[in-house]
Amino acid sequence: MFGRAAAAALLVLLTLLTGCASDGQRGAQPPTAPGSPPEPSPTAPAPGTDPAVPPTNRPTTPSPTKTPKRSPGSGGKSGPLNTKRVTGVKAVALTFDDGPHPVWTPKVLDQLRAAKVKATFCLVGTQVRRHPELVARIVREGHSLCNHSWQHDLELGKKSEAEIRANLERTNREIRRIIPDAKIPYYRQPGGKWTASVTKISRELGMTPLHWDVDPRDWDKPSAGTIRTRVVDHARAGSIVLLHDGGGDRTNTVAACPGIIAALKSKYGIARLK
Ligand SMILES: [Zn+2]
Repeated sequence: MFGRAAAAALLVLLTLLTGCASDGQRGAQPPTAPGSPPEPSPTAPAPGTDPAVPPTNRPTTPSPTKTPKRSPGSGGKSGPLNTKRVTGVKAVALTFDDGPHPVWTPKVLDQLRAAKVKATFCLVGTQVRRHPELVARIVREGHSLCNHSWQHDLELGKKSEAEIRANLERTNREIRRIIPDAKIPYYRQPGGKWTASVTKISRELGMTPLHWDVDPRDWDKPSAGTIRTRVVDHARAGSIVLLHDGGGDRTNTVAACPGIIAALKSKYGIARLK
């Protein structure tokens, strides 16, 4: 009797001890331990932006090797802040930023015409004012227009909504002084530094915020061969390719274009954004 009672008491004691030890272990390792890896900060830069880039005429984008993966033909996939970054069809789109420029833009236009392909030109307002004849040629030859702000202000998105609106409207007004009924279906924020304000105002003014999914960083002066390889290697069905026909010496971009155009045209087709 005594032995059985002692054994029962011992069992109760052991059970209590085991339970306490178990709670203690859980207490020492809560699922929400402070040592857990932090969640990504909601204020972290969106893909395609790089706050370290100085306020010069430079797109701020990740290395071409970091272009986010997506399945081919996955139309409708968005860029930062729900911007457009793929065409939505198999054909890829070429976009040329920071012009029009009297040296580079005509060379690009000549190549596009020779290859019978259309592109989209993201125009800077001050350049539009200096070179109206090039804007007229871009439209006459069937390319699409994109507003790229008045003077390529990388920080425009942080300004007041009134300032953003005035900037975008001023650029559109300058384009329409040349082509009164010009369609300007897109806006591209310099450096891809999108903010909620700038995407909202862009849409309110009837312009889809236009990002990209292939950036060969041609502004960083790689060789023509490197620009071509980066574009051709990273392009997928539906890619929107970012290139520059202004903002600096574009010798290498112009030299890369024939190879880019030939490769993308044969593999996917090249279509202007509508
Ligand atoms: Zn630009």
